Amino acid sequence: MLLSACVSNALAAEPTLSEKLALLAKAYPEAIAEIGDGALILRGGGAALLIDDGRLKSHVEKLEVGDIEDSLSQIYPLGPCAKPPAADFDPGRIRSEALMKRLYGDSAARVRRDLVTVDWFGERLSVTGRHGVARALQAVEAELASRPKLKRYLVPNAGTFNWRHIAGARTLSVHSFGAAIDLNTGFADYWRWAGRGKIGTAPYRNRYPLEIIEIFEEHGFIWGGRWYHFDTMHFEYRPELIAIARQAGSSACR
Ligand SMILES: [Zn+2]
Repeated sequence: MLLSACVSNALAAEPTLSEKLALLAKAYPEAIAEIGDGALILRGGGAALLIDDGRLKSHVEKLEVGDIEDSLSQIYPLGPCAKPPAADFDPGRIRSEALMKRLYGDSAARVRRDLVTVDWFGERLSVTGRHGVARALQAVEAELASRPKLKRYLVPNAGTFNWRHIAGARTLSVHSFGAAIDLNTGFADYWRWAGRGKIGTAPYRNRYPLEIIEIFEEHGFIWGGRWYHFDTMHFEYRPELIAIARQAGSSACR
């Protein structure tokens, strides 16, 4: 028995920043050459990306202008459990837009060049072929296909690639990079709808079966249903956060 019941934050041990960065590099080996002195060195040239801009930020500022360190700051909880997220707990919703652009492309046209088609229960999804995203999503579909009772939650899908900003924000949605999928909106709950646009004004709710979430997580996708700014139909490919969660022993079921 490694864990005692008194572990209050559901973590076995939070990895250090350098451990997190090593897992980030391992998640995108075709893009990240190495972790340099305070910066990420990317393959194919271009400027190194600053890991930590040193600025003290509020949660809202992290969401707006997160750096790489900010994007790894909250540990994502894994597993077939869901509960209302604590205030400002948005694991994965903080992103480094600079890094996302270097991973997938910095314009709609550039991202589009790498889109491939994934079969989703007979629907055709446009997803980026970079960093194993399309392969991972096809594996999710194959695994879900063996459980026909889940199909009604999965189709019609509500979109994959779409170069756009997050509603009400200036930051790009991960849909812009072809690395996210929204499931059937018929079961969706979204903080902005539920709370009439104001965070914290409506109770959290999830109507998707948790085995769906577990399968996505196994293949490197995080779920928007774990966020204080919840978006329960949304999944995005963030294998670095899944790897960090595994190393941290982070569970949604504690
Ligand atoms: Zn989405």
